[in-house]
Amino acid sequence: MITSPVFSGQFYAVLGLARSGMATVAALLASGAKVMAWDNNPDSRNRLEQQYEAAIGEGQLIIADPMIADIFGVSAFVVSPGIPINRHPIATLAKETGIPIIGDIELFAQAHDFWERHGRHCPVIGITGTNGKSTTTALIHHILKEAGIPSLMGGNIGLPLLAADPLPDGGIYVLELSSYQIDLTFTLDCDIAVLTNVTPDHLDRHGGFEGYRKAKERLFLLQSSPHYAVIATDDIPSQVIAKQSAAHLVTVHADNVPLAEQLTWPNLQGPHNAQNAVLAIAVMHILGISDEVTSKAMVSYSGLPHRMQKVGERRGVLFVDDSKATNAMATAPALAAFPAIHWILGGVPKTADLDPCKPFFNHIRQAYTIGQAGPDYAELLREAGVKVVECGDLENAVKLAAKEAQPEEVVMLTPACASFDQFSDYEARGRAFKTIVEALD
Ligand code: ADP
Repeated sequence: MITSPVFSGQFYAVLGLARSGMATVAALLASGAKVMAWDNNPDSRNRLEQQYEAAIGEGQLIIADPMIADIFGVSAFVVSPGIPINRHPIATLAKETGIPIIGDIELFAQAHDFWERHGRHCPVIGITGTNGKSTTTALIHHILKEAGIPSLMGGNIGLPLLAADPLPDGGIYVLELSSYQIDLTFTLDCDIAVLTNVTPDHLDRHGGFEGYRKAKERLFLLQSSPHYAVIATDDIPSQVIAKQSAAHLVTVHADNVPLAEQLTWPNLQGPHNAQNAVLAIAVMHILGISDEVTSKAMVSYSGLPHRMQKVGERRGVLFVDDSKATNAMATAPALAAFPAIHWILGGVPKTADLDPCKPFFNHIRQAYTIGQAGPDYAELLREAGVKVVECGDLENAVKLAAKEAQPEEVVMLTPACASFDQFSDYEARGRAFKTIVEALD
C-alpha cells in the first residue's frame, strides 16, 4: 500500500467507496490521517464499518455524509472519478468552503513528490487520450518489464494505485489517466506525459468538446520544463495541446511505423495500434531502452481483453470481441482491419453520426443493431446503403449474425457506443458476447 508522512495528521473526506475509494481510506488511515468516509450505498458503508471497527472506536475514521456532517478541518474532499463533479452537490460545498476536490491520483502525486524530495527517484509516465490509453499503457508496461525495469501499471487500468506497493528507487510508474481523473489532479508533474488522440467523448461531463479537450490538456500544463510530452499529432485537438506544452515536446504520427515491421506484431494490428506503438517507441527512446529490446517486446505483447480479441471460430467464421470500442472513432479501425464483417453495434450513443466508420462501410456484409442507439443507427446505415437488421439485444444479434456469416467472414462486436443501457460496463458486454458465442450450436 502507498502511504506517506504528508497525509499524517490531515483530515480527509472520502466520497465513493468502490475499489479506489476503499484503497484511499486504507492508505490514508495507514498514513496517520483522520478520515470521514461516505457512500450512498449502505452495503459499502457496512463493509467499511466491519473492516475498521478499531479506527472508528478511536475516532480516526468517521462514517458520515460530508454534505451534512461537520467538516471543520477537512483539508480535501477525495472523490471517486465516477462522481460527476460538474453536477454533484459536493462541487457547491467545495466552492462555499474553499476545500479542494481531489482524487487518488492527486494523493499519489503528493506522496511521489515527497519521495522525490527525499532521494527516491521513480519516474512517472502518464498516458491519456480518447482511445488507445489502455493499450499504450499496457504496451509501455510490457516493454519495461522485458527491459528488466521494475514498473507498476495503475490509474484507470488495473488495481487502485494506492493499494499497490511502492516501487523501489529507479522503478517506473505507468499510469493510465482518464479525463475524469485529470480533473481531480493538480500537482502531478509527469516525467513523460503521453497523448494518444483527442476526439469527441464524455461531452456531457465536460460541458462540450472544448471542455473535454482542455481536461486532457491539463496533464500537459502540469508538467515542468525538464520533462517530456510525447504527443501523436494525427488530429487537430492534439496539435493544439502540443502547442501549449511547456515540456520537451516529441511529436509522432501513426504512419511513422514501417508496415512490414508492424506485421510482425501479432497483437498490435491496424492503424490505431500503429499510433499506440509509435508512442511507446518514442517513450522508450527517451528512457534509453535499446531498439532491440523494444522490437522484441512488440512481438511478445499479448494484448488486452475486449480490444479486437478473437473469442471463437465456428465453421470458418471468426468471432471478435471489440466491446471496448465505445465510440465511432474506436470502432473505425476495427472495421478497417477485416474485409468482410457482420457488424454488431449499438448501446448508448456518443454521437448522432457514425462518420469515422463511413470509409469502411464497404467492409460490412450486414449490420445488426442493439440497444438505445439501435433504431437511429439502423436508419443511418440503411441510408448509406448498408444492409441492417434491428436486433434489440446482443443475443439476437449474435445468433442471427452467426447464421448469416459465410466461411472467411467475421462476426464482430465493435459497438461504437457505451454499454450502460443493457450492461453494467463494456467488460460485462464483452463477456456476454463470448458466452453467447460459446453457446452457439
Ligand atoms: P482506452 O483505454 O483509451 O479506451 P483502449 O486501448 O482500451 O483505449 O482501446 C479502446 C478501443 O479503441 C478499442 O476498441 C480499440 O480497438 C480502439 N483503439 C485503440 N487504440 C486506438 C487509437 N490509437 N485510436 C483509435 N482507436 C483506438
